[in-house]
Amino acid sequence: MSEDSKNKNFPYIRLSYTLRENSPVHIGLNPLKIKPINRISLGDNYNTSSITAENHCGTHIDAPAHFVLGGRFISDYGPEELRFTHPLVLDCPKKPGQLVDVEDVSKIIDDNLDCLLLCTGFHQYHDTDRELYLEQNPGISPGAVYYLRDNFPHLRCVGIDSVSMSRYGHAKESMEVHQTAFRKNEDFGKPLLFVEDLDLSGIDNNTQIQEVLVVPWQVGDLDGAPCTVLAEISQK
Ligand SMILES: [Zn+2]
Repeated sequence: MSEDSKNKNFPYIRLSYTLRENSPVHIGLNPLKIKPINRISLGDNYNTSSITAENHCGTHIDAPAHFVLGGRFISDYGPEELRFTHPLVLDCPKKPGQLVDVEDVSKIIDDNLDCLLLCTGFHQYHDTDRELYLEQNPGISPGAVYYLRDNFPHLRCVGIDSVSMSRYGHAKESMEVHQTAFRKNEDFGKPLLFVEDLDLSGIDNNTQIQEVLVVPWQVGDLDGAPCTVLAEISQK
């Protein structure tokens, strides 16, 4: 956990990882690259760097444009659409490659739910077992996404503490999961946003979350972007 998370008097913690060159990223993506441009240690007057990043690396948010032609870009969302005042962390421990299913999400009773964070426990492997974290991540089933949209009209965001909302190596399932979330449907509320690669290590059974703020990199016309996620918490 970061230093600010340890300050008991400060009510916000980060639920996002610091993005580094050696951060685990979804297989097929290039890792973050930081290239020194100016260095005081080499005689320059100041330090500057160039950074190269894929937009789905590290903790990041997927907007509908990621899987839907004509879907909204993340830069189209105002801050009021990225603030959630009825969040829930759902404790749903999963083994490698298991899915969060309808049975897990049918336990939720908050009709006002606007942000659901799935705690599969997989965040424990982020820094300890890269292969497991990237190749055998738990995901959510398309049926569970459908159930959530069908039953929670105020739900706008679903996040997970694994590298993706869909399992690695299951391309068809991945399409279904994302399209079920991102497609416009007159019977449902707004298309969902997905936040992937969340750090939920700072949340335990005694933590109550009042509010979640997602702050993406403010870059125009991208289907998703790395983001900082803040949670306002208190102890039960
Ligand atoms: Zn993504």
